[in-house]
Amino acid sequence: MIAAVPHDVESLRAALPALDWTTDAGRLALLSRDFSWFSPILKAELEGKVADIAVRPRDEAELRQLVGECARRAMPLTPRGAATGNYGQCTPLQGGVLVDMGGLNRVVWQRGGVVRAQAGIRLAELERSLREHGFELRTMPSTFRVATLGGLFAGGFGGVGSITYGPIAAPGNVLGASALPVVPEPVPVELRGADALALHHTWGTTGLLLEVELALAPAQSWIELVVVFDGSFDAALDFGDALAAAPGCPKRNVAALAWPVPRFIAKWEHAFPPGHDAVLAVVAESAEPAVRELAARFGGRVTHRAESIEAQRRNQTILEMCWNHSTLHALKADPGRTYLQCSFTAGKHLAQVRAVHQRFGSPNADARTEAEVLMHVEFIRSLDGPLIATALPLVRYTGEARLQEIIDGYRALGVRVNNPHHKHVEDGRFGGTLPPAAAAAKRRLDPMNLLNPGKLRVWPLPDQPPQG
Ligand SMILES: Cc1cc2nc3c(=O)[nH]c(=O)nc-3n(C[C@H](O)[C@H](O)[C@H](O)COP(=O)(O)OP(=O)(O)OC[C@H]3O[C@@H](n4cnc5c(N)ncnc54)[C@H](O)[C@@H]3O)c2cc1C
Repeated sequence: MIAAVPHDVESLRAALPALDWTTDAGRLALLSRDFSWFSPILKAELEGKVADIAVRPRDEAELRQLVGECARRAMPLTPRGAATGNYGQCTPLQGGVLVDMGGLNRVVWQRGGVVRAQAGIRLAELERSLREHGFELRTMPSTFRVATLGGLFAGGFGGVGSITYGPIAAPGNVLGASALPVVPEPVPVELRGADALALHHTWGTTGLLLEVELALAPAQSWIELVVVFDGSFDAALDFGDALAAAPGCPKRNVAALAWPVPRFIAKWEHAFPPGHDAVLAVVAESAEPAVRELAARFGGRVTHRAESIEAQRRNQTILEMCWNHSTLHALKADPGRTYLQCSFTAGKHLAQVRAVHQRFGSPNADARTEAEVLMHVEFIRSLDGPLIATALPLVRYTGEARLQEIIDGYRALGVRVNNPHHKHVEDGRFGGTLPPAAAAAKRRLDPMNLLNPGKLRVWPLPDQPPQG
């Protein structure tokens, strides 16, 4: 356990009285929490972790003043976007200042297929602005409605759109970023290409992002379809895979939900008949006839159709049933569940999905109790291009030991599991060790280790002299 260090936040506030501070205890508790409650393990570990004070800088000048003061006082700073992260990423482990980045929310410029925007901009806002010029985001999380650009880059992965463009970290998606070093007199640092990617998914520990520059996709008129299959998850999987691979059908998302996952989505019985597996597909309007033909070939039936823009406007988009939204729907209906995050091997992905589904996803012998692990697959292109499946299986939680057995069982079948029940940067996606480029960025941009301290399991690294 990390002991909370008392910080003199009153003198910090007195030094910068014009800033927009929050000191109310209830509000601080709320602001310090994200969606780590998806994990019963993280929920217990992060209980009571809260910022000493929160602040919402209105512009870069205020942020620079704040960062300089914090560096002079060795005061921890934890950046916060919209707090939709899943691992307690913006929950301060050592108190200090929670920095709400939402005030830095401008599009800096857009030139053709490239945009540069401030880190606190909401992705839905950014996409709205891009659409006016005929472009859209290449990839965004299913939380796009509230999630911020900085939060996606520092805490997320991708999601919607990754079926075409891969994860956000695929080379060419993020072109550059600027960050503010946490030092007494901070001056923004510009990072290009791989140097910018060193700040990706390090939960705000390796640099405070000011702006991010993205390559864009041409805007499409997207159609949302629900295709259901009568009791055959194999058919749903095969259709999902065929659609994901179909080169003539542009798509934004393809997800396959094994029954009973669709039943967790409240008030959608019209689209999800009992006992049916479902594919949620978001495809270009021009591709709709071909997608319907493909669905029919695999025995699928279309039960729902909507224009994506209109569906988003009405809060009825199937994009908010994909990715970890399916977990959100499930946990609302059945709080006894949690989830995993997995990826399968290109070329073997369908066989691997079937193998784990067969081993852990069958209903209990009496068929009255639901399976221990319910399957939810998302098709994407991997970092280096091939089409793969990823999954967010829903697990009946009966304790840490059993959860680990399931993870081990998946791994024994060759499946990669990024365990989402850890509170350290190194232990999820990075498989145990901070990448050298991220460590170098940390030394350069946060030499005093004030950014989100405690989230790096090992810092300073053993072979490095202490910094700062
Ligand atoms: C229902 C649900 C569905 C989800 N679906 C997806 C999905 O499809 N794809 C996906 O990738 N993720 C998904 N997530 C996780 C999360 O929503 C995304 O990663 C989202 O992009 C986070 O953005 P945010 O603004 O909420 O970030 P926050 O949660 O506020 O922050 C995330 C991390 O980034 C850091 N950070 C924030 N701003 C900055 C900054 N300016 N500089 C440095 N560090 C910063 C924070 O300190 C924190 O460590 C989902 C989560 C939920 C609850």
